[in-house]
Amino acid sequence: MTNIDLLLLPGDGIGPEVMAETKRVIEFFEKQGAAKFTVEEDLVGGAAYDAHKKAISEDAMRKARDADAILLGAVGGPKWANVPYDARPEAGLLRLRKDLQLFANLRPAICYPALADDSSLKRELVEGLDIVIVRELTGGVYFGEPKTITDLGNGHKRAIDTQVYDTYEIERIARVAFDLARKRRNKVTSSEKNNVMKSGVLWKEVVTQVHEREFKDVKLEHNLADSLGMQLVRAPKQFDVIVTDNLFGDILSDVAAMLTGSLGMLPSASLGEVDAKTKKRRALYEPVHGSAPDIAGKGLANPIAMIGSFGMMLRYSFGMTKEADMIEQAIAAALAKGLRTADIKGKAEKTVGTREMTDAILSELEKLAA
Ligand code: NAD
Repeated sequence: MTNIDLLLLPGDGIGPEVMAETKRVIEFFEKQGAAKFTVEEDLVGGAAYDAHKKAISEDAMRKARDADAILLGAVGGPKWANVPYDARPEAGLLRLRKDLQLFANLRPAICYPALADDSSLKRELVEGLDIVIVRELTGGVYFGEPKTITDLGNGHKRAIDTQVYDTYEIERIARVAFDLARKRRNKVTSSEKNNVMKSGVLWKEVVTQVHEREFKDVKLEHNLADSLGMQLVRAPKQFDVIVTDNLFGDILSDVAAMLTGSLGMLPSASLGEVDAKTKKRRALYEPVHGSAPDIAGKGLANPIAMIGSFGMMLRYSFGMTKEADMIEQAIAAALAKGLRTADIKGKAEKTVGTREMTDAILSELEKLAA
């Protein structure tokens, strides 16, 4: 049986609540004999600050480097609003992304049939939607230098941000997108603005070269980012994998997210390079949502984004397609039965809590495994 070393970082607010339920799903698959999970757990965010006065300890960072994959809940909350800037809860997440060089952010947008009427688009446009946005996460205009505001001395100021991409950055994110497409419907849409931006010209050139050299079997198309934004709300099901830079990816992934309803439904992954020694790709999986302090401790949080993040981990870090499919089917079946947490209530009369939603997903998993 495959041995998988997992690091769980539940974090703050609803993080520990949704993580506790996800552990039950991990245990289910272990009992099924799908893999042997060796699970370590540590603190991140405000919880780590309370214990160590740091948003993540060196020991937790060591565990993160050693793990086959990391599952994180959420960080932050009003309790830590006044801690020193370098020790703020988000610093733990940023340190993980930076030290592990997690340059590729994967944000799936899946619309379960039972929730299609809650989307802002018509049911027929979103029902069965299943796309992934691959966003470059460590380069581009958010990090490029110079990044300044200069006083021009004439009553005006000048602000400068710099969009910078090197060939290697575009090559590696393109490879992630093409690899992913091979595990899905084999189509990549690359998006930039080569009509007005030099970085767009290079982006298109490099993605085309990587495709020619290494991924000719995958269908590639190019779409300007403004046009892609339009197509995402006009006919989103035409896409499979979309690859784009940090800025466009930030915007387009939020647009795609809203096609599917609540934040409580959305998993994500951040991937790094394949390690030359171990041949494994560094990876951190987490829900898109935050620590939801308004509902923390009440047992109301929707566990689906967190359980879905574990499903993504099985699919993309360990190639456990069957088990990942089972998780998606079990979630769909629980929703089809009418179970709703408060965030996806829609017109439902009754809502369930974190535990009951997980119970329903586990019972569907039992049925699928039988
Ligand atoms: P949030 O995602 O925590 O909450 C936004 C709204 O969505 C809230 O009303 C919340 O109750 C609801 N919600 C979110 N997840 C839910 C779930 N699983 N089930 C049911 N309802 C859910 O965003 P926010 O309120 O802007 O931020 C709260 C804290 O979380 C802040 O400290 C923020 O910095 C932090 N944050 C952390 C992350 C992260 O850890 N990756 C991401 C975003 C925000």
